[in-house]
Amino acid sequence: MATNFSKELMVKPGKKVKLAKCDPEETLGWEKGHRMKASLAKAIERLDTQQYLLFAERKRALLIVLQSLDAGGKDGTIRHVMTGCNPQGCTVASFRKPSAEEAAHDFLWRVHRAVPMYGDIGIFNRSHYEDVLVVRVHNLVAKEVWSRRYEQINEFERILHENNVKILKFFLHISKDEQKRRFRQRLDDPDRQWKISEADFDERKFWDEYVEAYEDALTKCSTPHAPWYIIPANKKWFRNLAVSHILAEALEGLRMKFPAPSVDVKKLKWQ
Ligand code: AMP
Ligand code: MG
Repeated sequence: MATNFSKELMVKPGKKVKLAKCDPEETLGWEKGHRMKASLAKAIERLDTQQYLLFAERKRALLIVLQSLDAGGKDGTIRHVMTGCNPQGCTVASFRKPSAEEAAHDFLWRVHRAVPMYGDIGIFNRSHYEDVLVVRVHNLVAKEVWSRRYEQINEFERILHENNVKILKFFLHISKDEQKRRFRQRLDDPDRQWKISEADFDERKFWDEYVEAYEDALTKCSTPHAPWYIIPANKKWFRNLAVSHILAEALEGLRMKFPAPSVDVKKLKWQ
């Protein structure tokens, strides 16, 4: 089945996002099973091939931004999708509440420092978007401040894009019921209890405010140079399938080539 995951799931620039209209259970006709597994394996293999090219070429970087509500599957996505990648060319940056040093700078300072170098794939587990999400929901700065950030973010991402950083942003979309089910699972399973934080349960009370903040960020910041994708993520297998296909397609679209050898291979002589 030829599904164009990128086309189906990308937020068209300028289109107003309504998350209630995006079904977190959507699978674009795919079902769990052999065919899906084969397609996922193929996408991960394609990603691996592309990463090797990216690493060899060293001309550009790929930045993957992952955002979701708590228990949305950011960690799981990183673990599954990146299995085929060479760790030497891969970095992950997790953004938490800013440290004292980070908080003493502009909001993009810590983010820009974490942008992957040419040749690398960098994953942001949370990102500069927290500065228009948690910061907005909890009034951590005044509205005049956060409301200007959408444009600042677009400009920042445009600068990166013009400097050969390919940006792909994924919102892992789960339902409120699915979040509850995942929290429940964490409570019941001793191997998952370490993941529970009181903050997650508190944040759940702000679900509607987060939905509104996400809708604004997805609407205002999906641009041709740094598109957002809304990934239906209630089903983990579909989430992994969609993200890995979108990544493979985007990298193949760059038509990367191995660099020419720096020596004349024919003239090299064995001793
Ligand atoms: P976790 O991803 O579970 O490690 O949690 C990280 C926490 O840090 C989340 O609750 C985020 O909302 C919070 N966080 C991330 N960035 C910021 C920020 N810029 N300001 C305030 N809180 C943040
Ligand atoms: Mg958390």
